[in-house]
Amino acid sequence: MTISLDNVVKNYQLDDVTHPVLNGINLTIAKGEFVSIVGKSGSGKSTLLNMITLLDKPSSGEVIVAGTKLNEINKNKEARWRGRTIGIVFQFFQLMPTLTIMENVMLPMDFCRMYSLRERKERAAYLLEQVDLIHHSNKLPAFLSGGEQQRGAIARAMANDPPVIIADEPTGSLDTSTAEKVFQIFEQLSKEGKTVVLITHDQDFAVRTNRSIILSDGKIIGESNRLNQGESIIDSLE
Ligand code: ADP
Ligand code: MG
Repeated sequence: MTISLDNVVKNYQLDDVTHPVLNGINLTIAKGEFVSIVGKSGSGKSTLLNMITLLDKPSSGEVIVAGTKLNEINKNKEARWRGRTIGIVFQFFQLMPTLTIMENVMLPMDFCRMYSLRERKERAAYLLEQVDLIHHSNKLPAFLSGGEQQRGAIARAMANDPPVIIADEPTGSLDTSTAEKVFQIFEQLSKEGKTVVLITHDQDFAVRTNRSIILSDGKIIGESNRLNQGESIIDSLE
């Protein structure tokens, strides 16, 4: 398996009060699976993503990604581990505004010292072609539409050829046809063998993944695969 969470608890401390956000999550995701995580706003989806991507740490419990126990990674190695292992895509793209699309895609390769200098440029161009953005490669993000920026962000997520792609509501700010195009890129990545975890509010997309995990108040309250999906997912969405 590629991702495993064992009894993961996450609490936030506010004014001396402990607020539980993840209440003992047990979850395994196999290599190459295309999994969606659904649940109402505030149910803990982004916090769960933070645990898998090492953007934050559990209060207790263990997370293993691609064979590595995350709590055993040295603090000064965390960012490079993340850069090589997980491609992350956010709802609002989070491209660097002062860098061109091409430079944005090259950044993770520079940071993780992956590929030679010449290969980095070739690889960035290849990835931008894959997401149909090569003709915009020398533009700053602000000059592109939301869908184009998101395709750029996916190319950036793929820069180091990570085994795992995690996207947090990547179609949440896109119109329907643009969202469909972006979703199809994740479908394609899944077909190519990547493990893809998609947090989504969109049931039409959730039912097209291999498996949906339903989160409510920091707990997994249900799961459905392509064969038995139905109202349980619809009910869990806003
Ligand atoms: P979702 O992504 O499903 O909308 P989140 O994981 O963002 O939910 O948040 C789950 C809960 O945790 C919410 O009640 C939110 O207010 C709380 N929360 C998230 N991050 C923090 C934080 N840094 N400090 C305190 N509470 C937080
Ligand atoms: Mg969220």
